[in-house]
Amino acid sequence: MREKLKNVKQTAQQAITEARDIESLKELQVKFLGRKGEITGVLRGLKDLPGNQRAEVGKAANLLKNELEIMVEEKLAQFNQLELERRLQKEQIDVTLPGRPLNAGRRHPLNLIMNEVKEIFTGMGFEVAEGPEVELDYYNFEALNVPPEHPARDMQDSFYITDQQLLRTHTSPVQVRTMEKKRPHLPVRIIVPGKVYRRDDDATHSPMFHQVEGLVLDHHITFADLRGTLAEFAHGVFGDQLEVRFRPSFFPFTEPSAEMDISCVMCGGTGCRVCSHTGWLEILGAGMVHPRVLAVSGYDPEEVTGFAFGMGIERITMLKYEVNDLRMFFENDLRFLEQF
Ligand SMILES: [Zn+2]
Repeated sequence: MREKLKNVKQTAQQAITEARDIESLKELQVKFLGRKGEITGVLRGLKDLPGNQRAEVGKAANLLKNELEIMVEEKLAQFNQLELERRLQKEQIDVTLPGRPLNAGRRHPLNLIMNEVKEIFTGMGFEVAEGPEVELDYYNFEALNVPPEHPARDMQDSFYITDQQLLRTHTSPVQVRTMEKKRPHLPVRIIVPGKVYRRDDDATHSPMFHQVEGLVLDHHITFADLRGTLAEFAHGVFGDQLEVRFRPSFFPFTEPSAEMDISCVMCGGTGCRVCSHTGWLEILGAGMVHPRVLAVSGYDPEEVTGFAFGMGIERITMLKYEVNDLRMFFENDLRFLEQF
């Protein structure tokens, strides 16, 4: 029996030491230490031994069992450690590699100008007002003194939704909505940035475009206030050196009405293709609020005067950034958009 234990010890120790992987180690575990393993066999055979040997052999067998168990555990731990190192090696991150570049977004040129316009006017004490894009015919035309036979009311020029509703063709209806809400409060000083819609589509027109409308109401507002405010705005966007001039014009909702020109930003006023060799560029329409519009909106035209103006943001952006086709703003071509 003692001889047998000695043999088991030798073979087992050698086999465990030489084991190549976890799997063969587990086989050895079963072979020597399992329920049907060799040491268990020795322990079972104890009963056949004479009493004086039984204790001694039993003790030796248990010692060997513990010894081999510890060997297997250690070897197993070694294998696990190796496996872990292999995995770490494989998953290692090279922190010295350069990072992937982030694609930073940027503002659309129309938004840049829209924000600049808002900033200039809020700096002069204007509030920003907004209104619905699907507008009632009443606010879009009737309350603004646009007669029924006016060409803008033609189905050919506007997007009608029902008889009474259309996509607003200008931001001016928000003037009326604001006056209704604020009356009799004074002064009123708002700008209305927003989208407007007309049935146009060519190099200088888009079916959807952006306007900024403005309205100022108070006692004793004159055309000089209009002039001063809009000149200040033009200098803010295009620089102090440019000149402004006003030409008489016609809009149903203002009287008198005017168009404001600035000296050409391309040639400085000497004349070029952009300004059709006039030296001037038209940038907005304006006028004193028509007494009938004031009255319809609940203000007394005898007491209150004011001025209104409207401009196309696309037009201003095209002039400022020298873009010659308005459709480029809506094509989402990154080569174009990344220039701003
Ligand atoms: Zn010019």
